[in-house]
Parts: sequence; C-alpha cells; structure tokens
Amino acid sequence: MSIRTMIYAACLLSATCGPLMAEEPTPFFTLRPIGTGVWAAISPARGKAGSNAGFVIGSDGVLVVDSFVDPAAAQALLDEIHAKTKLPVRYVVNTHYHLDHVAGNGVFKDSGALILAQANVRTWEHTENLKFFGDKITPQQKQLVETLVLPSAVYRDGVELFLGDRKVVVRVLPGHTGGDSVVVVPDADVVFTGDMFWNHSLPNLIDADTQAQIASNDTFLKDYFKASFVPGHGEVGKAADVQAFRDYLAALRTAVAAARGTEGSAAVVKSVLPQLKPVYGGWNYFDHFAQRNIEQTADELAGRKRVPMP
Ligand SMILES: [Zn+2]
Repeated sequence: MSIRTMIYAACLLSATCGPLMAEEPTPFFTLRPIGTGVWAAISPARGKAGSNAGFVIGSDGVLVVDSFVDPAAAQALLDEIHAKTKLPVRYVVNTHYHLDHVAGNGVFKDSGALILAQANVRTWEHTENLKFFGDKITPQQKQLVETLVLPSAVYRDGVELFLGDRKVVVRVLPGHTGGDSVVVVPDADVVFTGDMFWNHSLPNLIDADTQAQIASNDTFLKDYFKASFVPGHGEVGKAADVQAFRDYLAALRTAVAAARGTEGSAAVVKSVLPQLKPVYGGWNYFDHFAQRNIEQTADELAGRKRVPMP
C-alpha cells in the first residue's frame, strides 16, 4: 500500500496535497483533551492524517472515532492511546465511508477492536471510494480501495455502546454522504460530528444533501448547544462555529438558487464565487472546494446530482 496513493486520495478529499508533496515532517495530529478521558486528534489543515479522529476512555475499554487516511497515522493514534491507558480499544466507529476516515481501520482491527458503522458504510467503502481516483485509477489504487478493512458490525439508525460505566451514543443523521454517524459522549458533553461539520473550512460536498446537512447542524445546535464539537476537519468548535458552518451551507444554497436557471454552470460559478469570497475566502480549503461546492450545489438543486445509493 503506497503512501503516495494515500496522499493522492487525501488530496482529493480534503485538499492536503501541497505540503504533502513537499514531504514535510509534520506530525499526524495534535491531541486535544476535551473532557475527562475524551480526546480529539486534530489533523493540521494540510496534514497527512487527512482528517480528524478521537477517542473515549471508559472504565473497561476505549472507543475510537475514525481511523485517518493513512495506517501510519492510525498506528500513531493507537500508540498515544496505549500511552494513556492499559485498557483495550474495544470499538472503532467510522463516521462515514470516505477514505480519509477509514483507511486505518486495519490497525485497530488487528489490535482486537470491533469496527462499527452505519450499514451504508460497509456497502460503499470498497466501491464509492474508487471515484476519488478518477478515470485514470491505477491497479494499485484500485487494490488499496478494495482491500480497505470494512466494519464488521453495522446498524441502521444508531447504537448505544458501553465502555464499562460510560455510555457513548452513536446517532445516525443525514447530510454528508447518506450514511453518516455522529458520536455523542453525554457525560462529557462532546459530539464527534464526522464530516457533518467542518470548522471554518469549506466542506467536500461530493455526496452531500445540503438541505439535510443544514438540518443536521440545526439538530446539533438544538440538542447539544453547550457541547464541544469535534469536526471531521478543522479545530474543535463550539455552537457558534457550527452555526457559522450551517450558515455557509445556507448562503451557498441561496446564492446558487438565485444564479442558476438562465445560465450555464460557468456563469453560476462566476456569479456566486464573488459573493462567497468576502465572507468565506479565509476559511480552509476555499480555493480547493469553493468552485466545486457551487457546481455540486447547482446539480443538487437541479435534481441531477449523482449521490451514492444504498
Ligand atoms: Zn467525508
């Protein structure tokens, strides 16, 4: 499994290409404590872990959320967990099927963990991830996707997991891919959102239902207003950050809806991009995702967007 291949995938999924190609010796992630025994592993904006992850330590075991784009990053996370506790990693929850959240699953499976996800993750992980490599996918890249470790337990609507006396609630909410889970730690008031929330970062909307994603962010604000939110990409946030992300999606939809109809795709981009730039031009990945966000939202509003089907 080539690191180059992984880097290419991470590049497509969250715009991590630049410094990666320069092979800078940056750390995979920074661990941030966000509650007793609850840690966020925050990947820097152009880091080689590809996305955020995290873990929860209970009285008889550990639960991990997501496994990065690179098994070496997953191993680094497992090493960090082992440095903090002798308890085993019992569960890994994949928040969705995208390569940058599941490629390290094998590291945790080999250590004895049960990998869980919403049922569509298991259906899509070996197929839908191929599209990120485009038409010129190499046999090696195809093999990488087709040998990703799948969840070995799935649920439809969510599940409650117990780490001894500590409860973790896995909740299914729609929006980013159609198979998204959020992981809630009620006793610490922490929500791991996966890619339902990107903190001050433009999102990858390739599979998104933006209306559903807005509604799910409204659910975060209603049900967990005081929580710390660990996004799929970006720093740990609070309600105001979730609100800003929700408002970006709403502004995108409004601007695209006003611009489309009489004009082609290039004209919609030309109209909408200058409206977004003054407000969101400083967010991570603006240059990488803004145009695609506009085009994909135009397709979505026109009812012609291709999204994964269960
Ligand atoms: Zn994603």
